Amino acid sequence: MSGPKACVIGWPIEHSRSPLIHGHWLKTLGIEGSYDKQAVRPEDLAGFVIGMADAGLVGCNVTVPHKEAIMPLLDELTADARDIGAVNTVWRDAGKWIGGNTDMTGFLANLDAGAPGWDAGQDRTAVVLGAGGAARAVVAGLIAREFPRIVIANRTPERASALAQSFRGRGSGIETCGFDDLSGHLRDAVILVNATSLGMAGSDRLRIDLSRLPAGAVVNDLVYVPLETELLAHARARGLATVDGLGMLLHQAVPGFARWFGVTPSVDAQLRAHVLASL
Ligand code: NAP
Repeated sequence: MSGPKACVIGWPIEHSRSPLIHGHWLKTLGIEGSYDKQAVRPEDLAGFVIGMADAGLVGCNVTVPHKEAIMPLLDELTADARDIGAVNTVWRDAGKWIGGNTDMTGFLANLDAGAPGWDAGQDRTAVVLGAGGAARAVVAGLIAREFPRIVIANRTPERASALAQSFRGRGSGIETCGFDDLSGHLRDAVILVNATSLGMAGSDRLRIDLSRLPAGAVVNDLVYVPLETELLAHARARGLATVDGLGMLLHQAVPGFARWFGVTPSVDAQLRAHVLASL
């Protein structure tokens, strides 16, 4: 196969769905190029980066456990990657390896597509469950959309405080709380995002009372296995707008593909069905 070559690296890497997404785009757009999985052990990461150009790669996606470790090995980082503290996409620009993070773009594009106008209005409160890597991308996205108030609820309070602290002075007021203190905050929320792994197949259940959410609120779950989580089912039963997590996975892949293969692909029903079939 000739044409540009990209891949996803991780350890292990078998679980990655990125080859399904990029492979679908390469095929349907008729682009000559390839996208593979490459298992890279942590101790081999630096060698992999040094050898990327010789291997003929135009870039790669980066997944667990390399998202933070790769940062000092690259020539430049985008502002999003620095904000989120992790790299998930690497591309070449003017002879330099650039590390970016497309989770924030994916999060925003998914909501824009699934609940247009979700971020409209003045007096907006967003409630985010979780304070891990995904929550960082979500908070960065909410700040980019100028939410005046963001509430982060997390099991480990120190992690929520550290996340709030790292975005201090960026224009949004960020508060933190425990799950037990959520209900008062939910009353004001225009959006609730689950960025914990609760509700994911094999994880604990997410138990949260949605009765306090206003009728116009949007509920977004980043978990996409199962696609309809208990949180989304409860929100739907209450008549609230819901957005599932699969769209974020698909939308976060768009910028990398565009950089590597020179065409901006679209996230459509065909791609969704293709990836859904693998879940
Ligand atoms: P992470 O960094 O490991 O963070 C996990 C989060 O879940 C933390 O806030 C953690 O709380 C919380 N948590 C885990 N188990 C819990 C429990 N039993 N009770 C209460 N809280 C618990 O993981 P991540 O990378 O942020 O990913 C979080 C979820 O988002 C995963 O399900 C992942 O698949 C999903 N995700 C989806 C997309 C997408 O494209 N849709 C992208 C990224 C991530 P503590 O801080 O207290 O441990």
